[in-house]
This record gives sequence, structure tokens and C-alpha cells, in this order.
Amino acid sequence: MKILVAVKRVIDYNVKVRVKADQSDVDLTNVKMAINPFCEIAVEEAVRLKEKGIATEIIAVSLGTKACQEQIRTALALGADRGILVESDERLGALTVAKLLKAVVDEEKPDLVILGKQSIDSDNNQTGQMLAALSGMAQGTFASEVTVEDGKASVTREVDGGLQTVSLSLPAIVTTDLRLNEPRYASLPNIMKAKRKPLDTKTPADLGVEVTNSLTTVKVTAPEERSAGIKVASVEELIEKLKNEAKVI
Ligand code: AMP
Repeated sequence: MKILVAVKRVIDYNVKVRVKADQSDVDLTNVKMAINPFCEIAVEEAVRLKEKGIATEIIAVSLGTKACQEQIRTALALGADRGILVESDERLGALTVAKLLKAVVDEEKPDLVILGKQSIDSDNNQTGQMLAALSGMAQGTFASEVTVEDGKASVTREVDGGLQTVSLSLPAIVTTDLRLNEPRYASLPNIMKAKRKPLDTKTPADLGVEVTNSLTTVKVTAPEERSAGIKVASVEELIEKLKNEAKVI
């Protein structure tokens, strides 16, 4: 069974995001970048399916600038077998990413495509769903458990107020939620080995997809600075402040 995993390059989740002075975008100068955390979970799930003898090949795909090679190499160090970079310097919206992924899916014909449920930079939560619509594949979004058996994937989904289990005919699309697994760290020997694993580069034109931008960012603003907290000496003082200063009780 072949698994395609989509890994997005985003600002590391530990970094405090700065907005550019002209408010046109987030400032990426000298900022540490990483694999989107939900995509790390997607890689981990694919690797676990390979370790169980269910998957035979894992392909990590990233779309964006040449720098995305770094995140593909990380996925290779975590256990993916080969990588594909769809290189573009354009800003890629979710629909364009979904169209490009659909073209990769058409070429590679994976049995399972695993994506993160959401990118932590754009917070779209759209790509997996759009890919499912474009490719006509079944989708199991917000997965907290995945099992594959007899040509079907059983996906437990985290829905409002509980869990829902769906059975998907393969090929299918799964998007990962936080509780699906805890990703491993890449070991130094595996980081070294990953440097020799195959990594193909394609352009959107190679895949026959035109990169169009139907969305423009008008303005980006940082959240308001929070004022500093204070320490209170007693419960009585806390209640007095909640009543008379904060006026919340
Ligand atoms: P989004 O719909 O942008 O919130 O992203 C959901 C998931 O789609 C991510 O976790 C990735 O698995 C995948 N994805 C989105 N953009 C890219 C990209 N540029 N490269 C690779 N995967 C992506």
C-alpha cells in the first residue's frame, strides 16, 4: 500500500510571530521554520502503518519554495521513503494546493493520502476536503484513530461532543487531529540517511496546473498586547478586584 503525505513548511510553533511594519504580511525574515505540527502527525501515522507491515511506501510531498526541501528531508528522516517538491515562488492558496496535490495523486496513485487537518499559519482547514472533492475520494477528517484492513480505512473522527467512526473505501483521504499520535523525533543516523533518499522536483507547469490567486491578503494585524498581571495578597483582595475593577462577578 502506497501512502502520500502532505507536509507544509510553516513558522515553528514555538516562535512568536511578528507582523511586517506595513501590515502586508507576517515577517518571515530569519524566522525558524518547521513542518506544520498536524503534518508531523500525518507522517508519524504513515510510518506506523509501514511498521505494522500495512504500508509499503511513503511519499512526502510539499508545495512551495525550494526551502520546502528542508521539511521534506525531515519527513524522510522520520521514515518517509521519497519526497516530491512542487516548486513555486508564488503564494499558493488552498485551492491551488489541492489542485496540485490532485495532479500528484493522479501520477502516484496512492491508496491513502494523509494531510494535517489544518496549517497553523493560514488556519484554512480546507486542503484535504478540497482534494477529496477534486479527486472524488472518500474523506475522513479530524482523525484520532486510523486502522486499515481489507481495502478499507476505518477512521475515528473528533466531532463536536464526541467521536464518529467512518469506514472509507480506498483510495481515501485522511486529515489528522492532535490526538491521533505523538510524533517521534528524528534520530541523527536517520537524519544522515535521509540526505541520500530520492527527492524529485516538479513545477506546477509539469503537473499541468495553472497557479492562480483568487485571494489577496488585505491586512495583517498583531493581537493587542495584554497588560501585565498582578499578584494579590489574599482571596478577599482577589474577589474585591474581580467585583470592582474587572467587574466580572
Ligand atoms: P490547510 O487547509 O491550509 O489548513 O492545510 C491542511 C493540510 O493540507 C496541511 O496540514 C498539509 O497537510 C496540507 N497542505 C496545505 N498546504 C500545503 C503545502 N503548501 N504543502 C504541502 N502540504 C500542504
